Amino acid sequence: MADRKVDVAVVGGGLAGLAAAEVLGRGGVGVLVLDENPRPGGQYLRGGRGAPIGWADRVKRSGLAMLDRLPRQAVEVRNRVEVVGIQPGFELLAADGGGGIFTIEAKRLLLATGARERFIPFNGWTLPGVLAAGAVQVLIKQSGVLPARNTLVAGAGLFLNAVAGDILKSGGRVAAVLDEAPLRRRMAPLLALAGQFLKLAQGGLLLARLLSAGTRVRHSTRIIAAGGEGRVREVTAARVDRRGGVVSGSEAVFPASCLAVGFGFTANTELAQLAGCRMVFDAALGGWVVAVSEELETSVAGMYAAGEIAGIGGAAKSLTEGRLAGLAMLRRMGTRPGGGPAPEASALLRMRRRQIGFARYFNAQHTFEPDYMRRWVSGLSDDLVICRCEEVRLGDVRRAVAAGFDAPAGLKKATRCGMGICQGSTCKMILLEVLAALTRKPLARIPLPSVRMPVKPVALGVLAGDKP
Ligand SMILES: Cc1cc2nc3c(=O)[nH]c(=O)nc-3n(C[C@H](O)[C@H](O)[C@H](O)COP(=O)(O)OP(=O)(O)OC[C@H]3O[C@@H](n4cnc5c(N)ncnc54)[C@H](O)[C@@H]3O)c2cc1C
Repeated sequence: MADRKVDVAVVGGGLAGLAAAEVLGRGGVGVLVLDENPRPGGQYLRGGRGAPIGWADRVKRSGLAMLDRLPRQAVEVRNRVEVVGIQPGFELLAADGGGGIFTIEAKRLLLATGARERFIPFNGWTLPGVLAAGAVQVLIKQSGVLPARNTLVAGAGLFLNAVAGDILKSGGRVAAVLDEAPLRRRMAPLLALAGQFLKLAQGGLLLARLLSAGTRVRHSTRIIAAGGEGRVREVTAARVDRRGGVVSGSEAVFPASCLAVGFGFTANTELAQLAGCRMVFDAALGGWVVAVSEELETSVAGMYAAGEIAGIGGAAKSLTEGRLAGLAMLRRMGTRPGGGPAPEASALLRMRRRQIGFARYFNAQHTFEPDYMRRWVSGLSDDLVICRCEEVRLGDVRRAVAAGFDAPAGLKKATRCGMGICQGSTCKMILLEVLAALTRKPLARIPLPSVRMPVKPVALGVLAGDKP
């Protein structure tokens, strides 16, 4: 018997989850939104009203307005709650911030768990002062803390410029943004973005702001190593050719008291996997994502997925998909007079198609061909730690693969990679990419490792029901 019963439970209080909750609440359906963060809004609204909003940032304005007008009589948002499991019958197992554990049974479920950053390791990436680009943004937006005066931003993709912009806005200095992807990739598909004037304007303005602040923006540039006694002091980077090889003699050293790194995003699919939803691999949507219908229903009837979990594509797409999922659930629950699709659904569907166009452009900025990745991985040294929790090194993985462990499940058991306290949240994608490179298989043919409850670290006492 569940501790709580609701019409719809939404996991994830980001733009997608909140947009669905708003639509459902207005339709008279009771919704419980569960989110692990201290405040609703997910990654995009993390700074709340305190964070500056650019003139072109329509999505942030809509998101904040949506938060204000959530129909609170129907929608309850609970923050600091981690959903750690799903059982048959749409029963969620949740751990609240106070150390309690409870279950929720829902008639319908929406998974809107968003995405996390993707990493590719390099020598010195575990040094203090080397931070995830997203973590730097969280420190700035959520806590008003600038990790260092001088930061180097590196990795791959459009997010790097956004983080560099946030650092500048907070009074920090960014000597350079080093991006693995070539400049031509940024420019070539711009035509695909025709009609998305605001997006182009935002990107152009951001770049102009970086350049006018003296930040160098270098493409086709790889981080080779972060170095320093006890913490990062300098970063060595080098140019890469079209095939993913380092151009010899191109190494340059950048002084830095902080290195913010990120290589794009990957969907938070664990709960969906646990629930038995079908996954698909689509490089244009950011790799492994939850397969959904046009109405955002997963392969499990009555379970929906919206936002980054169904395809990495940015804030606007998450907002649209949340609304679509909300409308679809309303229709299925029979609360719409007439029962047909809502009139606004077709406009939202058109918008979603356009936004998926942007998603393809976005993901292309941090996705590299299999041969390119093979060359990249072959240049990494054996003593590189790839799983920090269990201190598994690349050499351990290479030896295990050579011994025949050529699938994630076996590799995990052979090396313990991904079996530590973070449960693979950082190393899972690294392991898959390394495995693809070593076995010369496309990433699409490397299955996601299986998932077990609890999907997030939770103390045994909490699971056992001990009260704090
Ligand atoms: C670190 C980071 C920074 C980003 N910064 C930007 C940016 O500056 N600009 C931009 O355009 N895009 C940014 N993005 C992309 C951004 O996530 C999306 O554009 C948009 O916010 C996605 O909305 P969403 O609702 O799909 O997911 P999210 O906003 O990620 O919301 C998902 C929510 O679900 C919560 N959650 C996940 N699993 C559980 C669980 N098991 N239990 C409880 N809660 C859970 C998450 O903590 C999060 O609050 C960022 C992404 C990341 C990962």
